[in-house]
Amino acid sequence: MSLSRRVQRAAPSATLATKAEADRLRAAGADLVDLGLGEPDFDTPEHVKEAAADAMRRNQTHYTSVEGMPVLREAIADRYRVRDGATFGADQVLVASGAKGALYAIIQALIDDGDEVAIFAPYWSSYPEQVKLAGGNPVVIPTREDDGFLPSAGALESRLTPRLRAVIVNSPCNPTGSVLGRDGWSALAALAAARGLTVICDEVYEAFVYDGLPFVSGAVLQPVLGDRLVIVSSLSKSYAMTGWRLGYALGPRDLIRAAATVQAHDASQAPTLSQCAGLAALTGTQEPLRLMLDEYARRRAFLVPALQRIEGIACVEPRGAFYAFPRVSGLYAPLGVRSSAEAAALLVREAGVVTVAGEGFGAPGYLRISYAASLPVIEQGVARIEALVARRR
Ligand code: PLP
Repeated sequence: MSLSRRVQRAAPSATLATKAEADRLRAAGADLVDLGLGEPDFDTPEHVKEAAADAMRRNQTHYTSVEGMPVLREAIADRYRVRDGATFGADQVLVASGAKGALYAIIQALIDDGDEVAIFAPYWSSYPEQVKLAGGNPVVIPTREDDGFLPSAGALESRLTPRLRAVIVNSPCNPTGSVLGRDGWSALAALAAARGLTVICDEVYEAFVYDGLPFVSGAVLQPVLGDRLVIVSSLSKSYAMTGWRLGYALGPRDLIRAAATVQAHDASQAPTLSQCAGLAALTGTQEPLRLMLDEYARRRAFLVPALQRIEGIACVEPRGAFYAFPRVSGLYAPLGVRSSAEAAALLVREAGVVTVAGEGFGAPGYLRISYAASLPVIEQGVARIEALVARRR
């Protein structure tokens, strides 16, 4: 079968491949400690599940409008009005099947063949592939470990090209945990405004910022960027709702309308029951988020120093999300491997520990280690890694 050139340019998802491989090994009886997880290990809050069950009993099981239920679009717009002083109207919101669905529709609506999109590396693995699926070309901009992997205006400026249309900024970042502050945002916005770039902010980890640091949404850039600002987020991580497939984009009316046209011919809409649940999540108690944040903070306080203590590993302190992103190239010699992909494979094979290799995030030499697993599981994973390294030295 000859496949389209477009799809042949796109690579499969590295993180989903890791999950599929772990599931396969587990089904075959392997004793695995899974630190490859890209989703919360918490349950969806009860009142959110109840709202969906209620909606089902009321037979709210039909199509909604493509853009989403008006009351939900209003609640989403409100959140950015109240928290960030942004002026998005409900008609500037597209509810979608996860942040992934929202990003896909936005990129399809914005990017033409040959257009370029700047992506800071290490990056979430779907960005370059979504750009390629739209016929565009990703321009990968490295960030620096000694700057805490922060995206910077300086790095972006050094890679500007005439065909660059947009830049994707992910804060808090998967996989590095870097979190942009107001100054970093302002510098990026000033450059983007001067160069006519659209800034697409992916904020799916917005609920998880540590050390009392504030989360600064890209929405605060609206006065500078105006119609060149797109915010994408979802309920997947914040409310432990990955399987509900509920996310959204906010942006200029014409782009949101165009993205809705893409969605109309694709998923049609986000699932109706999930929209009802999402409304309850956004408008109900936010206490579950605080409890999850506290628990992630406890795990991070164990994991990061424990990794830093292993000779051959260097680990920047992640400021947000729920991943550590240690550099493991110092382990290649003792482990007898030549890449982080080989290191990750060896860890699964010899220690039964699942991680995700940096190659999938445009960052060879690193591993992504998730702390969306219970503290005893994380402790066991670290102990197994330590034992393997000690055995091999
Ligand atoms: N953006 C980032 C940075 C992510 O890590 C993920 C999921 O792993 C997504 C977007 C997609 O999330 P959703 O479940 O809302 O589609």
